[in-house]
Amino acid sequence: RDEMAQLAEEFNQLTDRLQTTEEVRRRFVSDASHELKTPLASIRLLADSILQTEGMDPAVARDFVSDIGSEAERLTRITEHLLALTRLDSLPAGKQFPVDVSQVTERVVGRLQPVADAAGVEVERSLKPDCVILCTEDDLSQICFNLVENAIKYNYSGGRVFVSAYQDGDQVLLEVGDTGVGIPEEDLPKVFNRFYRVDKARSRAAGGTGLGLSIVRDMVRRHGGWVTARPRNPEGSLFTVGFPRYVPEAGGKGEAQ
Ligand code: ADP
Repeated sequence: RDEMAQLAEEFNQLTDRLQTTEEVRRRFVSDASHELKTPLASIRLLADSILQTEGMDPAVARDFVSDIGSEAERLTRITEHLLALTRLDSLPAGKQFPVDVSQVTERVVGRLQPVADAAGVEVERSLKPDCVILCTEDDLSQICFNLVENAIKYNYSGGRVFVSAYQDGDQVLLEVGDTGVGIPEEDLPKVFNRFYRVDKARSRAAGGTGLGLSIVRDMVRRHGGWVTARPRNPEGSLFTVGFPRYVPEAGGKGEAQ
């Protein structure tokens, strides 16, 4: 009897888990459709206005066409992020190699320098040597890119971003801090959720999709790491990513890329 009761209990738990997974999937599809519908509706509206306004001022028409272009760009970004998430769900991680976090971060910060300049944000770095982990370079670049881009995006003109990589015992830590708008305490646990945004208007204006941090979390996890978000003292936010440090076996191969 006890065995039957235990079996029934396990069966119930399994059904609950399946139901939860199904609900998460359904919510994701519904959220994704909503996100795609909004720019599509704008494009429709703008195109209709151009078609229906007799003798429209060419300057106004040009503005509308440029808005259509921005909305199309937004659709591209959303679909790219959705595809990235689907790939993370369905494909195994690529072959891992020893990668130096400091070197990859240096390159990513270089790529984002023009964005920081345009936003009037200064990026300071402290990248220590020998921060090698097992990862794929593409994933590590994407993780770093999303965090640094956010630190620039959710910042003020004249603000600063601090990027550091260093060894901490048997881990390598990548920290991205900023003096920006900060994240309210109650939102902190939710920022890694799909489509979650603290300030929807600001995210939208900055070209956000609400998916950047969930991509970061999924990528970090599949390489055995963790990521946290907390307030930075005295202002702004601090994101920390930790990975197991790669220690080459004696006499083994494995040069950092
Ligand atoms: P988005 O595409 O909207 O930037 P993300 O998944 O990258 O989406 O981030 C989710 C939300 O978390 C953002 O909309 C923003 O509200 C908040 N956020 C992320 N990074 C920061 C940061 N460095 N400072 C303040 N808020 C941030």
